[in-house]
Amino acid sequence: MGEAPQGVKIFNGEILIDLTGASGTFHIEWFRSKTDKKVDSGVIAGGDKRFLKIPVYRWCNSLSLLRADQSRRCRMRIEDLKLKKHADNLRAVATIIWEDCPRPTQELYFETTEEFAHILWCDPHAFLVACIMLAFHFGEERILIEGEICPDLQNGLNTVMNWMRLWWYEPTKNLVEIEGKRRFKFQRPRIPDRAGVFFSGGIDALATLRANRISYTSDHPGSIKDGLLVCGLEIEERSVFGYVLDSMSVLAKDAGIDIIPIDTNIRSLGPETNEDFWGNFWLTEFMGASLSAVAHAFSKRLTEVSISSCHDIPNVIPYSSHPLINPSYSSSSLRIRHEGITLSRFEKTKLVSEWDLALQHLRVCNKTKLYQADLLNCGKCEKCVRTMLALEALGVLQKTGAFPVREVTEDLVKKAVFLSRSNVPLYRELIKPLREAGRQDLVHAIEQKLALFDRPSRSLRALLLQPIIKFDEKRLGGRLRKGKRLISSSGIWAHH
Ligand SMILES: [Zn+2]
Repeated sequence: MGEAPQGVKIFNGEILIDLTGASGTFHIEWFRSKTDKKVDSGVIAGGDKRFLKIPVYRWCNSLSLLRADQSRRCRMRIEDLKLKKHADNLRAVATIIWEDCPRPTQELYFETTEEFAHILWCDPHAFLVACIMLAFHFGEERILIEGEICPDLQNGLNTVMNWMRLWWYEPTKNLVEIEGKRRFKFQRPRIPDRAGVFFSGGIDALATLRANRISYTSDHPGSIKDGLLVCGLEIEERSVFGYVLDSMSVLAKDAGIDIIPIDTNIRSLGPETNEDFWGNFWLTEFMGASLSAVAHAFSKRLTEVSISSCHDIPNVIPYSSHPLINPSYSSSSLRIRHEGITLSRFEKTKLVSEWDLALQHLRVCNKTKLYQADLLNCGKCEKCVRTMLALEALGVLQKTGAFPVREVTEDLVKKAVFLSRSNVPLYRELIKPLREAGRQDLVHAIEQKLALFDRPSRSLRALLLQPIIKFDEKRLGGRLRKGKRLISSSGIWAHH
């Protein structure tokens, strides 16, 4: 065994590599000086501490830690971009090679039907936007992409990573460096302006389309002409996608837009079977990126694509689909818009309810496995019941066949509604219109739920007050407690 490098300690048969003070990524290599033979033992990131077994190979007589950027250029690669037939459909495909992260080499695709094959192309932006947040999350240092990258998008992706780091990570987390040719040349003349929208059939998307129809004349460049409907994101089953496509096609015809059916395996870039990962990562970091990636694959035809916001301004939270995030996925040829931020969920529902056909084809339920032809809402889950409450308040629940039943009861609210920090504002805004609609029974059921939600549990209260109590004792000599401004005769203060 040669001399141990700094930060390396040798124990019985094991070696501790301690890089808590270092930055960057290091390759671990065992080395026999006589023969120059090397054994690669993977990588370790600066800031990490790890025990390694000393290889049993006797000929290994030294260990080296090589800074990744000094040894070999270590990077995620996006390469071999090509169009490929897949049955009657066409796919834009790229090979994704992970380097720092132990994930298999993968093929990422965006697919559409024969009818729209002529507008699909291997835009490198589509693959870069699809990969960037995963590369960042899994700690890849760099992405090398085949093809030219617009500096607008490159700057935007840096902006996104900075926000995500602020919201979800340690401030020391490295941003992913993007390596690709800068795009200098642009097609002149540019393609004609054409706007699209992600058209899922939900309240947000339908409200965006209806608001667009009300505000824009059909010859305005912002007038929506295409609806993008994607299989492989929240809808995964092919048969279910067929039901949704059939239902949305009726609305598309009525609104005078084309529906572009799209399939993608973008979710396979992460550990697909891990529901915790997807439940969290999708909402916090990936939704806006996934949708924007899909949009870029159609940049041959579309010059702007709208993503409908999930939150209105008073309720904006750090989120993957956010007014500061989605527009950052734009390039100079495709603008990503974040729409509907000035309308509350109830206001959006009202807008949609004035479009009768939309009321019949509404799709709000996330329980896609329960979908049937012509019935895309279970009528029993929290989201279904919340939407039914809004429609009841608007006096149109009786008119819609989108749910299995046409009435909402106090009992249903009690059973189906589970409050969380994110849906509480959506229930609060229903109280006044439901009261005005004479449904005091539903108001009562909602108010009961809200009261339970607002009342912090004893342990939670203890948890929240504990730091204040400590501060009071240490720094204020118990003056806060004595002042009794926050004190009741019982409760946790009484015990201190
Ligand atoms: Zn449902």
